[in-house]
Order: sequence, then structure tokens, then C-alpha cells
Amino acid sequence: MYYTKVNQDNCIACGLCQIISPNLFDYTSEGIAFSKMDLNAGKVPIPEERFGAFLDAYRKCPTGAILRSDRPFPPSEQRS
Ligand code: SF4
Repeated sequence: MYYTKVNQDNCIACGLCQIISPNLFDYTSEGIAFSKMDLNAGKVPIPEERFGAFLDAYRKCPTGAILRSDRPFPPSEQRS
């Protein structure tokens, strides 16, 4: 079971993750990506059927802004 969120400080609004995995990622009005499942909280596990697309986005993000963890992320101050 894996969890994801976007480190929005590192996101350059390239659009790639949303193209690769539109079920998991979306953008703010400024084009900064966030995890759609829980508004970037990183607390909802990635559904198994979407994990392949997640991995593709995770590996291709040019700045490494997509985070992955095997446990829920702690609360943060990041924008969503
Ligand atoms: S692929 Fe990475 S840099 Fe590009 S929008 Fe997604 S999180 Fe941001």
C-alpha cells in the first residue's frame, strides 16, 4: 500500500503528472500539482489499479516533486 502527495515547493507546473495520471493528480489555478484523492494530504492509499500510472508519473516528474510513502503522510502546511 502506497501513499502520494506533491511537494509543491518543487513543482514547476509542467503538467506531466496530470497527463500521465489524471485520476491521481490535478492542478491549482497556478498550475501547481496536487494529489486529487485527498487534496494533497497524502492519507488516502493509491488504488491498486492506478498504481502503474502513478509509478510512471512518479518516475517522470522532472523535479522529483511527487512523493511516495508506504505510510500516510503527516499533516503539513502545503497549499492544495
Ligand atoms: S510532473 Fe512534477 S513538476 Fe510536473 S506538474 Fe507534476 S508534480 Fe509538478
